[in-house]
Amino acid sequence: MRLILLGPPGAGKGTQAQRLVEEYGIPQLSTGDMLRAAVQAGTEVGKRAKAVMDAGELVSDAIVNAIVAERIDQPDCAKGFILDGYPRTLVQADAVEAMLAERGIALDTVIELVVDDKALVGRIVKRAEDAKAAGQPVRKDDNPEVFEERLREYYKKTAPLTGYYYAKGKLKTVDGMASIDAVTAEISKVLAAAAK
Ligand code: AMP
Repeated sequence: MRLILLGPPGAGKGTQAQRLVEEYGIPQLSTGDMLRAAVQAGTEVGKRAKAVMDAGELVSDAIVNAIVAERIDQPDCAKGFILDGYPRTLVQADAVEAMLAERGIALDTVIELVVDDKALVGRIVKRAEDAKAAGQPVRKDDNPEVFEERLREYYKKTAPLTGYYYAKGKLKTVDGMASIDAVTAEISKVLAAAAK
């Protein structure tokens, strides 16, 4: 199964992706995680991405497209994968189409998690507090100031993808305001229906 999880920052994409990893045994490909790992490792990509990420802006399409193209050729992606936080622009969405077509594979479903803007900032603040309490590193961009920019970027560049996938007949929407378990159950239902 090849799936895209769409939705603004704080919508719950990462949480739901982790559950899908367990249920379906396919990997979560989070470009945010990959970029944070590159920053941590001090690679060229990491050096170029760091300031952009800290400011809540989007890293260039060329960088993220290259990271994903390399990642989907790894053996663990053979049965499928969950794209989390990618694509985030129309250029990236076209790149996904091309990448999959080149490999003779197709996207199954795009699931959009729909969440009220007002709830999002609270979730981000809570994520930072939970990380701190657990002794884990707190993301520099998980604070209300940078979050505003991340949300602006989302509306400017990522929100148009819902129309893009709707037009292709791939878009399914799920109420992301429900409890984590209820959202998981709804996603499972959508995936079961898509598999028929
Ligand atoms: P995330 O963990 O998905 O919230 O991503 C954290 C940050 O990484 C974003 O605010 C961007 O700066 C960068 N990033 C992650 N995925 C992408 C992407 N697909 N395109 C551009 N920038 C990205």
